[in-house]
Amino acid sequence: MATLPTHIVAADTLRGTIVDIFSAAGCQTDEAERIGEYLVSANLAGHDSHGVIRTQRYVQWLREGKVTAGQTLTIVNESAAHALVDGNYGFGQTIGPLAVDLGIAKAKANGMAVIGLRHSGHIGRIGDWAERAAEAGLISIHFVNVEAGELVAPFGGVDRRFSTNPFCVGIPSADGGPMLLLDMATSQVAEGKVLVASRGGKPLPEGSLVNADGTFSTDPETLYGPLTPEAPRDPANGQGALTAFGLHKGSGIAFMCEILAGVLTGGGTSGPIPGGKRARIGNGMLSIYLDPTVFGTPDFVAKAREYAAYVKASRPTVAGAEVLVPGEPEARTRADRLANGVPLTLDTWASIVATARSLDVLVPQ
Ligand code: NAD
Repeated sequence: MATLPTHIVAADTLRGTIVDIFSAAGCQTDEAERIGEYLVSANLAGHDSHGVIRTQRYVQWLREGKVTAGQTLTIVNESAAHALVDGNYGFGQTIGPLAVDLGIAKAKANGMAVIGLRHSGHIGRIGDWAERAAEAGLISIHFVNVEAGELVAPFGGVDRRFSTNPFCVGIPSADGGPMLLLDMATSQVAEGKVLVASRGGKPLPEGSLVNADGTFSTDPETLYGPLTPEAPRDPANGQGALTAFGLHKGSGIAFMCEILAGVLTGGGTSGPIPGGKRARIGNGMLSIYLDPTVFGTPDFVAKAREYAAYVKASRPTVAGAEVLVPGEPEARTRADRLANGVPLTLDTWASIVATARSLDVLVPQ
């Protein structure tokens, strides 16, 4: 397997550079700081596809008016236990925490709450929102879709019908933050992994793409069309699709993300895309917040922790390996990257430097 050479940057330095870029691009300091915080948080968790690699694209979206700086939530309707809110295509790093904080406040007052969010700019790594709820002591469940973002074929189909629709559940620990965090795309691989494979990185697993003729593929050209090293990786140029994880079952979860996050919120489904061209990319998210204390279950957190230890104690299939629980890989990667820096592919670092230069921002060497 090829390993791409990397440029290693300390998390604080990286965050500072991203904040400077978005300040220069026209965001107020607090918004630029949130964008820096959440993009770097995705890298720290090991989800590079949702980290600072997005900088160039976000700045371009801002210039093109596809995302708007300085937005807030509009409450469309609400009751004590729910709200439907519109993100007005503001940055997801601003809109996401506002929507989560509304859910936290309502769940703290009522024991539980449901928040439907529509028309948010890209809300990135969904685990960040479950972590925010867990820090407030809440369980949270999130169904997400991407309005006009279809990339994934349904089970048994060839044509794109879903986006990579993440599903996420966070379980709080006793000391703040999550004890368990399941945060997963419903496609077999995230689009970012196809991007990495197209640049000579880790090959794709069998069956992760489907060609227009129905045959399965591991070739990034299925998604992006004919490639040269310089060719932009644009899924609009490809004839094929990503596949859903877990055959009909994963496809079914992706489907329900569309219904709950796209149809119920009114934000819209991944497709059809009017005129075949995406005007804006908007995330929809239906989130359920539960305060475990209102269920009266004694020692919920302690019992959940006990059960997680029992799961981990399952004998590994490979001698010397280990059973991990959801969220454990990310926690370990975060500890490692905080200590040793964030590795970025040279392409990613070059795109950040180019974006910084286009805005007269100095990048520390
Ligand atoms: P992944 O496959 O790396 O991990 C999925 C889940 O499995 C995680 O909860 C992880 O902790 C767990 N896991 C991983 N390895 C494990 C192991 N060996 N044992 C036990 N559990 C393990 O994640 P992904 O599906 O590639 O998703 C990547 C990120 O992309 C997520 O943060 C997701 O929110 C984000 N995403 C966002 C959007 C959006 O529109 N905003 C769309 C798609 C994906």
